[in-house]
Amino acid sequence: MAVFGSFSAVRAVPWLWRRAAYAAAGLRGLCPGKGYAVGPAQSPPAFGFLLDIDGVLVRGHRVIPAALDAFRRLLNAQGQLRVPVVFVTNAGNILQDSKAQELSALLGFKVEPDQVILSHSPMKLFSQYHGKRMLVSGQGPLVQNARALGFKNVLTVDELRAAFPVLDMVDLQRRPKSTPLPRNDFPAIEGVLLLGEPVRWETSLQLIMDVLLSHGNPGTGVATAPYPHLPVLASNMDLLWMAEAKMPRFGHGTFLLCLETIYHKVTGRELRYEGLMGKPSILTYQYAEDLIRQQAERRGWAAPIEKLYAVGDNPMSDVYGANLFHRYLQMTQHDRAKELGAGELWKQRPSAAQSCASILVCTGVYSPEAPGCTEPAQGGEEPPFHGHRDFSFSPGLIEASHIVNDVDEAVQLVFHKEGWAS
Ligand SMILES: [Mg+2]
Repeated sequence: MAVFGSFSAVRAVPWLWRRAAYAAAGLRGLCPGKGYAVGPAQSPPAFGFLLDIDGVLVRGHRVIPAALDAFRRLLNAQGQLRVPVVFVTNAGNILQDSKAQELSALLGFKVEPDQVILSHSPMKLFSQYHGKRMLVSGQGPLVQNARALGFKNVLTVDELRAAFPVLDMVDLQRRPKSTPLPRNDFPAIEGVLLLGEPVRWETSLQLIMDVLLSHGNPGTGVATAPYPHLPVLASNMDLLWMAEAKMPRFGHGTFLLCLETIYHKVTGRELRYEGLMGKPSILTYQYAEDLIRQQAERRGWAAPIEKLYAVGDNPMSDVYGANLFHRYLQMTQHDRAKELGAGELWKQRPSAAQSCASILVCTGVYSPEAPGCTEPAQGGEEPPFHGHRDFSFSPGLIEASHIVNDVDEAVQLVFHKEGWAS
């Protein structure tokens, strides 16, 4: 079936994606009968899905109708998934359980918390830091999230500010009215967790810098900044995201950019991450593959899951990430170890997956109807690279394996490729 558009011939620039999205808009009705027939003797699946949430399954708080159609295909008569599915989102200021409940209500079947991967979920793997005293930055259920990830001894930026009121001086209204006594009973901080965008950025930027420059003792003065600095784990590097406003909003990637820039300007050195996770990091895809494998084992499916299909609406995170992981899977063990800059424990982890295909849908960021699709700049210049500093731009990595209208067509495409009845 040649109706599913391939992006191989499309140059990797957003306005061409948009043009391709328009071109693909006539592809509806691939399975007009919609019988959802299940083969009588279906063999165990050797493939699994990584589904993005926003722009693929939901928009705001509303489910995208194609998602309901897709799950009618994915569920058997008993309401169980026919193939392993995980939900991979870059959201982070929410609890995993809450996200699973939200998805269950929207999709009409029970989504288990361990099917949901938030941007910081792979921090569960960094057990060497779970017992350390960590400063945590973000908002929402911050401490609950850190504890759920395994961190037993965390301190928020607000708690640090309360311990050292003289550190936060930008807002004149929040400066201390008197000089507090110096304290020497403060246990040193041993690392920093950046879970998502905080509020009052000037406070968080200042106090995180203070912790890094003082090696965890912000009450002391330090002549020379220690380097390497304390370990920093960060998640969600999205520079921008689309909300109700006509223009994109700052994401956590913008906060990280500020912190990296300040650190470099002040010390002359690069801020280094012990772990940088969330899409498009390889670590997140490794983590997703592991959850898919566990899901298949629980269901008693003997066949190894060799093919992964990642469905998303954002070329810069979903397509780039899936293609990066695919490239990683094609490497030798030796090259894989070199490719990974973080996640020591996972460097040598065997992977059953042979491939990871990227499928771009048009119901989110690159929907023709949605605001925010980038137009070509005057003179045909390519738009600026919005990816993170540690992820270099490579046009090949943002070319999707396939482009379809919506997630239902994505499931049909995969079932067709795998010889499954849809
Ligand atoms: Mg999305």
